[in-house]
Amino acid sequence: MALIVQKYGGTSMGTPERIKNVARRIAKFQAQGHQVVVVVSAMSGETNRLIGLAKEIQAQPDPRELDVVVSTGEQVTIGLLCMALINMGLKARSYTGPQVRILTDSSFTKARILKIDEDRMRKDLEEGSVVVVAGFQGVDDAGNLTTLGRGGSDTTGVALAAALRADECQIYTDVDGVYTTDPRIVPEARKLDTITFEEMLEMASLGSKVLQIRSVEFAGKYKVRLRVLSSFQDEGEGTLITFEDDIKMEQPIISGIAFNRDEAKLTVLGVPDRPGIAYQILGPIADANIDVDMIIQNVSHDGTTDFSFTVPRGEHDRALGILEGVKAHVGARELRGDRSMAKVSVVGVGMRSHVGIASKMFRTLAEEGINIQMISTSEIKISVAIDEKYLELAVRVLHKAFELDQVPA
Ligand code: ASP
Ligand code: MG
Repeated sequence: MALIVQKYGGTSMGTPERIKNVARRIAKFQAQGHQVVVVVSAMSGETNRLIGLAKEIQAQPDPRELDVVVSTGEQVTIGLLCMALINMGLKARSYTGPQVRILTDSSFTKARILKIDEDRMRKDLEEGSVVVVAGFQGVDDAGNLTTLGRGGSDTTGVALAAALRADECQIYTDVDGVYTTDPRIVPEARKLDTITFEEMLEMASLGSKVLQIRSVEFAGKYKVRLRVLSSFQDEGEGTLITFEDDIKMEQPIISGIAFNRDEAKLTVLGVPDRPGIAYQILGPIADANIDVDMIIQNVSHDGTTDFSFTVPRGEHDRALGILEGVKAHVGARELRGDRSMAKVSVVGVGMRSHVGIASKMFRTLAEEGINIQMISTSEIKISVAIDEKYLELAVRVLHKAFELDQVPA
């Protein structure tokens, strides 16, 4: 007998018929003798609808009240799913985040989980019930409802699995696993049977939207065995997210190509090259809570240099505004902003023990005439910033060059 946490996303919960299908899947696991805790999202589109309503009342919704509104989506689906289970003759009980007592901090709309009380869930499981918990929500110390940020039900699932020391956390979604890259761009993309936690973290942070990044971080920290699989297929093992130390086999050098379209580049030209200049430029950007990704400072000429960095595209205008002030302050010559950047990365833990990956990547892009504007690397990834209009081409040629379309021997 195993204890399994299953998380079902909005598409899987999208209609009463689909909810009944989810119930059938849960029943199958229970019939095999497993204890099942289920975490659900709101019906697809519902959270967006609720945010839309809030914005019709208040353009910038009050964060505390917004959480009160958007957390209702998941309260509907936990109840409906329990009804479907009860209808099939199973015992089932639903709980909102506060009822479980998923304790979070008080950062409304992006709260972090601090502690989970497992007693009620354990008791129900021992009595043979399926426990169904609302994803995405919790309660702070003062009793306020909180939510965990978009896609937060993944994090609820992983956090419950960690708290209950579950044998596995299964994330059911509308894709059947994690792919070498987005199959909509590269039809030859392959589903991976396994991916390491570190690679998954890179893939998720680089824009593969299969899992909320915080859920992956959580799984890594608490060593939760995590699996992504399709709720629309009966067969299939999905993709298991493994821990590098646990694997004996040789790792593929590259596991996937990740990308992100939403990048923008800002350049400050003709900055006096003196100590403290990077801080003077990036300090105010950080103070404004804007994430900076890649950074380049050029060699100086005649005592001045050019300084470039990337930010999420949505922050381009705000960052440029801040730089106007910086420009006057440090005596820079000119500012430039480019909103049409994209980032492409090759990701793989096998890179640690292989050389020549970067040069292969650069050669492949050069052969297509794609200009690399910025480069950054870590132990397990190489990222380049390029003009967005070459993104799909870059992903395709890299996927092929690293033979990701071929099943590894
Ligand atoms: N319903 C929330 C959202 O749409 C949480 C989730 O689905 O994970 O972001
Ligand atoms: Mg999701």
